[in-house]
Amino acid sequence: MAQLPPDVEEDECLPEYRYLFSPDLLQDKVAFITGGGSGIGFRIAEIFMRHGCHTVIASRSLLRVSMAAKKLIAATGRQCLPLSMDVRAPPAIMAAVDQALKEFGKIDILINGAAGNFLCPASALSFNAFRTVVDIDTIGTFNVSRVLYEKFFRDHGGVIVNITATLNLRGQVLQVHAGSAKAAVDAMTRHLAVEWGPQNIRINSLAPGPISGTEGLRRLGGSLARVSTKALVSPLQRLGNKTEIAHSVLYLASPLASFVTGTMLVVDGGAWLTSPNDTKQLADFESSSAKL
Ligand code: NAP
Repeated sequence: MAQLPPDVEEDECLPEYRYLFSPDLLQDKVAFITGGGSGIGFRIAEIFMRHGCHTVIASRSLLRVSMAAKKLIAATGRQCLPLSMDVRAPPAIMAAVDQALKEFGKIDILINGAAGNFLCPASALSFNAFRTVVDIDTIGTFNVSRVLYEKFFRDHGGVIVNITATLNLRGQVLQVHAGSAKAAVDAMTRHLAVEWGPQNIRINSLAPGPISGTEGLRRLGGSLARVSTKALVSPLQRLGNKTEIAHSVLYLASPLASFVTGTMLVVDGGAWLTSPNDTKQLADFESSSAKL
């Protein structure tokens, strides 16, 4: 069996790295990564930078992205600009993209990774909670893509990778908000690929399965986060790691995928094909909410 690419649980850079792709795959490219200060987005930034890319990492917390940028620069020697920005606020996105263009003179790649999620049965979900997830995941992805298009991609081409999920492929308990929001992003991927292809803009979705060392798994995984990997009911019988997701995003963002657009790459060890829905979790949730 092939050796797994290494990973660390925390938002820290890898202590060592063995190249599978050419180290200059993204030499002197610039990537704008929303949600780049933590979890999967942090590892995407690191792997891109190890392949020669400069990055802009943007999220609401300036402290979070500033601390992440320090680690990324120290580990890779590439430049990383941390910016505070809420993907729900177009004026803030415009200001951030202007700042990034002032710093680097161009942006080649956009990774839409910012998202919010939690477990909740549809029957207990407030109208506002559903709307907030759609605002961040779906509308946020559109907002940032649209600003990048206006300010740079329309005239220079570019690559967009939207980080989505497998929740909606079969329907998943406690996740109607996130599954619906991410399904809309997958649709957006196809629409924008069709409309913006003539401007040499490629757009794809990447749908991770359960990934170790992430806020997503800590919040949503429940017993999955603690279970023996051998007990997982998925074809590869283990969780994925952040480096594996970053490698797949690297593929989609690089010239290796120069003829790939409008598609979704599922990176989940085959989990969505076989994982059962945990309806007991739904019953537990409903009985505990009933006590409130
Ligand atoms: P994470 O560390 O919580 O990453 C989410 C990031 O989004 C944070 O850095 C957060 O930073 C940022 N963010 C949230 N709301 C924002 C807003 N309104 N504006 C700007 N930035 C915002 O979670 P993760 O688990 O690594 O997930 C990363 C991506 O992978 C998400 O799109 C998630 O849906 C997807 N995914 C994850 C898994 C998994 O197993 N972890 C599985 C499937 C899909 P601030 O708080 O500073 O804003």
